[in-house]
Amino acid sequence: MDIDKSELKNKSFECLDGCAMCCLCQPELSMEELARFKKYGLAAGLTHEHIQGHVTDEPTAIKLQGGNGACHFLLDRRCTIHDLRAASCRQFPVHLHALHRIQLNANRSCRGITKGGDSLAEFGDGLLVDIDPAVISGILAETIDAVHSFESNARDSNVYQSPERLREAADALIPFLDNPKGIGKVLAFADSGPELGGMPVEDIVQMVQDSDTPDDLIDMANEGNLEQLDLDNPAWLPIYVDGNFRWRTYRAVSDSIEVMEIRPDGKTVPEISITGLELAQPNNGARKIFSDYVKLLNTRDPFLGYAYWLCDDQDYEYDLMTVYLGLLATTMLDLWWRSCLIGRIIGKDVLDAELALEGIKAFDMDCLDMPTMGVFF
Ligand code: SF4
Ligand code: SF4
Repeated sequence: MDIDKSELKNKSFECLDGCAMCCLCQPELSMEELARFKKYGLAAGLTHEHIQGHVTDEPTAIKLQGGNGACHFLLDRRCTIHDLRAASCRQFPVHLHALHRIQLNANRSCRGITKGGDSLAEFGDGLLVDIDPAVISGILAETIDAVHSFESNARDSNVYQSPERLREAADALIPFLDNPKGIGKVLAFADSGPELGGMPVEDIVQMVQDSDTPDDLIDMANEGNLEQLDLDNPAWLPIYVDGNFRWRTYRAVSDSIEVMEIRPDGKTVPEISITGLELAQPNNGARKIFSDYVKLLNTRDPFLGYAYWLCDDQDYEYDLMTVYLGLLATTMLDLWWRSCLIGRIIGKDVLDAELALEGIKAFDMDCLDMPTMGVFF
């Protein structure tokens, strides 16, 4: 079976006492897990209402305290059902994803991942051993079918580009994607909707170079992110756990961003209200971190699966290359904005490597939560 574990290499992992960031995101349960929870008398901790907004006949997710905040089973930032916890809790910070192959991803929002050593790779191997190979093969067979059907539709519509070509072009555009001006050029190129066919990658890079950064890039970043954060259900809001393990969430209210601290009982306490967020330019240290993040996105199958999903959702109207590069540019624009927001929250106005890394801590969880043509299992 084709399994890519390269994202886990040369990283160690240790769950940090007092963090519990991943316990602020509602775990969902398989039918077997649901039966196990019922058998052990834990059904009162389950809910029909999923954080994504859907409601089921049978409870299949774990409750959050007070509707948002932490998991029902978290007490004093420790799991009270550790040996019985859900598969997604056991797997975190690793995600298992199936598309044209199996890939293991490391969630960079987890502060327990550090560089060096190989314990995260061993952790990932352990997760795979725990799953029946026949189950993995079955999931993969279904996602490969979905990819073949997508490729056939994209070819019929003359918008198909191979994953190798998409990734080659994105790699060549990294010097654009690590800074706002370059991101604007990639967005302008993608928005012009060129028909690219088999155009050489160096010609695509030249077209990006010749594109003009939109004058309203900052408005685009502000409006796009305020729209994403304009959410009714508090359980849908993003989570940011800082280096002191303080739990926070934030939402848009009209033109402002309200930052709130989350208390253990799920109640939120207003902290600051931000109007007119200043977007600082990344310095060279931040650009290096952003550049590494683009490289990472460009190797992630869930990101490729998101571009496939989007292309299909847009009825194969746009060349897959422009969908993929436009998605990368939008993602990096959002990461820039999010890093500046986190800077404002933690009182740091220079966008340096340290703040860029905090931005990724606040952003990667949401990035891995995007739609995909593949399946997380
Ligand atoms: S986010 Fe990482 S360090 Fe924090 S509780 Fe979860 S696994 Fe542990
Ligand atoms: S079941 Fe335990 S590990 Fe999973 S989210 Fe709840 S408290 Fe955290």
